[in-house]
Amino acid sequence: MLIVQKYGGTSVGSIDKLRHVAKRALATQQAGNDVAVVVSAMSGETNRLLALSSQFRENVDDREVDVIVSTGEQVTAGLLSLAIREAGGDAKSFLGHQVKILTDSAHAKARIQSIDAAPLKGCFDQGKIAVIAGFQGQDSEGSITTLGRGGSDTTGVAIAAALGADHCEIYTDVEGIFTADPRIVPDARKIPRISYEEMLDLASLGAKVLQLRAVEFGMNYHVPIHVRSTFSDAEGTWVTDIEEDMEQVVVSGIAAVRDEAKVTVRHVPDSPGSAYRLFQSLSDAGIVVDMIIQSQSLDGHTDMSFTVSHLDHKRCIEVLTTSCPDLTDSGKALASDTPVAKLSVVGVGMRSHSGVAGKMFRILSEAGINLQMISTSEIKISVIIKEELVDDAIRALHKGFGLHLPVTAS
Ligand code: ADP
Ligand code: ASP
Ligand code: MG
Repeated sequence: MLIVQKYGGTSVGSIDKLRHVAKRALATQQAGNDVAVVVSAMSGETNRLLALSSQFRENVDDREVDVIVSTGEQVTAGLLSLAIREAGGDAKSFLGHQVKILTDSAHAKARIQSIDAAPLKGCFDQGKIAVIAGFQGQDSEGSITTLGRGGSDTTGVAIAAALGADHCEIYTDVEGIFTADPRIVPDARKIPRISYEEMLDLASLGAKVLQLRAVEFGMNYHVPIHVRSTFSDAEGTWVTDIEEDMEQVVVSGIAAVRDEAKVTVRHVPDSPGSAYRLFQSLSDAGIVVDMIIQSQSLDGHTDMSFTVSHLDHKRCIEVLTTSCPDLTDSGKALASDTPVAKLSVVGVGMRSHSGVAGKMFRILSEAGINLQMISTSEIKISVIIKEELVDDAIRALHKGFGLHLPVTAS
């Protein structure tokens, strides 16, 4: 078999841990497989490099920040290759440009466009383990790019797709994907199998155990992803195409995104073009808007509420005040609530089961939690609540939906 293994920051956070990872990769090779290993920076290193870069905030240039933050993975790739040799195997390290990981030029959030897997195959032919620095690529100008926080997951799955690997193993500090973040819900249950679709939603709604784009790659190229612990041999969670019995699970997981802000524009003329002008001015300023709700029209006017990242909150108010003074009464019609969190329940079984939203709202109301906004899709329901309540809300929903039980109650 051809197996890609990706090890996250905590798995490679010390020399001892690197020795452990080296043994694990070597054992996989000795079992008769070709092995490519993708590594993250040692835990804390990317934050340290970002903090160094931010010392020069006035001159911030994303191209140069990518030059700095991409070095964390370079160090780990070299160290792991040495550790594999020390353990009696042979390995060769590769940086992004050495396997031609070509990306667009969106620094700090670049998207992979193509990979040349030939150098890795050459490495296997020589009996070596290929060790690849995650998180980094190169654009068409030759500038170093990075793939966004958690981006080594995406390198791992993209390398697996380019190699036609049998599967991609994502090694981390938990035993798989759980029904909620096990750090918040201690009795969260490990999910044995989950569809790409559900995992896409969980990842986009805050479960950072897998980067969203890694799941997209897995889905588009049909790469089975096995999320598991570096420190145990237990089976983890398989992320795969949808299977029949998955539909029986109504709610498979709960996720939350913290640090959002809710902004309301009061008394906007309910006429063609109002929403367009408000949201176009935000998009021109590069501000990403998440949930949007327009209230019922009264006297030809309406209220519009939406959420943005708290990092964009101040700028959002400034942009709306200056770009749309008529619609925002020069800012006087703007109100905001911060910090808020988006809390979501996800499950493919919602397609064929009704009543999930009602049950979610009942559980939250019994916990005394007020819902500020609600949005639903075929397989998820999201609500905006006060951020300080989010951990309690996750625990209440987890219990209320019976997610700690072996079979999910509906
Ligand atoms: P790595 O450094 O290995 O990439 P991350 O910190 O990026 O690890 O992701 C693993 C973490 O994701 C876990 O420690 C856990 O706290 C968090 N997490 C959030 N939601 C979930 C979930 N539903 N299942 C498992 N882990 C989750
Ligand atoms: N080192 C990068 C980060 O901390 C990428 C990764 O670990 O996946 O976000
Ligand atoms: Mg990660």
